[in-house]
Amino acid sequence: MRKIGIMGGTFSPIHIGHLMLAEYALDTEQLDEIWFIPTGRSYLKANVDMPSALERYEMTCLAVAGNPRMKCLDLEIRREGNTYTCDTLVELRKGYPDYHFHFIFGADCLFTIENWRNPGQIFENCTIIAAVRGDTPLTEMTGKKEELEEKYNADIHLLPFMQLEISSTLVRERLKKQQSIRYLVPDDVIAYIKEKGLYGFKYERK
Ligand code: ATP
Ligand code: MG
Repeated sequence: MRKIGIMGGTFSPIHIGHLMLAEYALDTEQLDEIWFIPTGRSYLKANVDMPSALERYEMTCLAVAGNPRMKCLDLEIRREGNTYTCDTLVELRKGYPDYHFHFIFGADCLFTIENWRNPGQIFENCTIIAAVRGDTPLTEMTGKKEELEEKYNADIHLLPFMQLEISSTLVRERLKKQQSIRYLVPDDVIAYIKEKGLYGFKYERK
C-alpha cells in the first residue's frame, strides 16, 4: 500500500521550514510521496490580507517542481467556501482507496485539533504525523497523543524534528520591510512573488 504524506497549510508563502519537514518525514516515516495541499479560503485566516488561493497554489507548485517525490494538489482551492481538513481526507480516501494517508503537522496542533471540524472523521481517515520541534521533550506530547488515541481510536506518530525559527509570517514581515528572503524561500518562488508584486514586494538587489 502506498503511503502518502499530506502537508496542508496556507503556504502564504511556502518556505524552507515546510519543505524540510516534508523531506524529513518522507524518509523518517518511510513515505512514498508528499502531497502539498494549499488551503482554499481559510476560515481561520480569513481577515489576513493574502494572495489568492491560486497564487498560493502556484507558489507551492514551483517550490516542489524539482522533487520527484513531491507534488502539489489544487483540491482545496477548487472547493467553494471554507475548506476543512475532514472533507479533504474523505475526498482523498474516495479518490485513492488503496492509499494510506499520513497528515503531517506541528505537534502543537495536537492541542487544537479537537476544535477543528469533525476531528473524529480526521482520525478515522489518516495517520497523524506530529512534528515535535527542537528540544521539546517527547514526554510532553506523549500524554496528549495517548489521550487522543484512546478517545478517537487514532493513530498518531510523534516525529522528532529540528527547531527552525521560520514562518510565513516572518517571510511576509521581511518583505514588508524590503528585506531579503533569499534562502528562506526557493528562488523560483521569490521570482514569482517579485513578478506578481505579492506582499508589497519591491526589494531589488543585484
Ligand atoms: P503563518 O506564519 O502564516 O502561520 P506558517 O509558516 O505557520 O504560516 P502554515 O501554512 O500555517 O505556515 O503551516 C503549514 C504547516 O507547516 C503547519 O502544519 C505548520 O505546523 C508547519 N510549519 C510551519 N513552519 C514550520 C517550521 N518552521 N518547521 C516545521 N513545521 C512548520
Ligand atoms: Mg502557522
